[in-house]
Amino acid sequence: MHPASPSLTGLDSNLRFDQPHILNGGWRTDVAAVTPWLAPIVWDATFDPALLDAMHKDRKVTVAVTVFAIGKYTQFLKDFLETAERHFFVGSTFNIRYYVFTDQPAEVPSIDMGAGRELVIRSVPGSNRWQEITAGRMKMIQALIETELRGHADYIFCFDVDAKFHGRWGTETLGELVAAIHPGYYATERTFPYERRPASKAYMAPEDGDYYYQAAVFGGELPYVHHLVSTCGHNFELDAQQGIEALWQDESHFNRYLWIHKPTKVLSPEYLWQDFHPRKPEIRIIRFSSVIKDYTKIRPNV
Ligand code: UDP
Repeated sequence: MHPASPSLTGLDSNLRFDQPHILNGGWRTDVAAVTPWLAPIVWDATFDPALLDAMHKDRKVTVAVTVFAIGKYTQFLKDFLETAERHFFVGSTFNIRYYVFTDQPAEVPSIDMGAGRELVIRSVPGSNRWQEITAGRMKMIQALIETELRGHADYIFCFDVDAKFHGRWGTETLGELVAAIHPGYYATERTFPYERRPASKAYMAPEDGDYYYQAAVFGGELPYVHHLVSTCGHNFELDAQQGIEALWQDESHFNRYLWIHKPTKVLSPEYLWQDFHPRKPEIRIIRFSSVIKDYTKIRPNV
């Protein structure tokens, strides 16, 4: 594990890359590739993967991944992990540690992992309310960072399990605070499904909001993600003490947090698609996508 700073040794002077242009050439003109606060929005063809990987090659970046599989959601683990092994930070310069949180450790499939990659199982209680499971993740990620990750990982990414990787997910996604735009709301106006009750700590006024982020994926450097999950977990508890549960539980608090604390890198919906959406021309590649599922068959409650 190394501090999150640019490579001190620099690039190999023999490497050759295409010339970058600032007047249209080689850049996306059909989508916004930067936010109003100058964070990159990562789309295909806005970065050179070989150049980015070369810039990280001496750092041996360690990435922790959290994924929760509670109740019937263990059935998604095999595809999630197998496709992550094919697409997520593949290469000898990365260390990857998957943390699988489950109430059924025996159901965690055994997957062939590449060198420098390992899986750790964390036993957690089940629940008969899916709302409790999804929102409870924030506190568990907070505890993981505090007790195990500090000093041992550079970055953390937190994923929903009911999804698969289909394309490269690598160094282009690294940043201090990284969030992904919800594939269902990237082309809509500000009528996002934020929490609208002022009594909730997740409250967003009608004129507030940048994008609608989906909490199915987020990550970044440990101190930034720690502040995010501890704040969201705490605010969820404060709401509960008042008898309030935000409209989309952790995701509502997540959106409120990211309105106040802007992400330093935003992932386009290429990085968080949903299989049931028809493919759109601006989505040149789907890198990660949630599978179609029958909620009545897999969730513990409806
Ligand atoms: N989850 C789980 N067991 C459940 C419900 C949820 O393990 O019974 C976890 C799982 O990682 C899942 C995530 O919480 O991917 C988000 O829940 P879900 O996919 O149901 O939410 P959606 O994004 O579909 O609203």
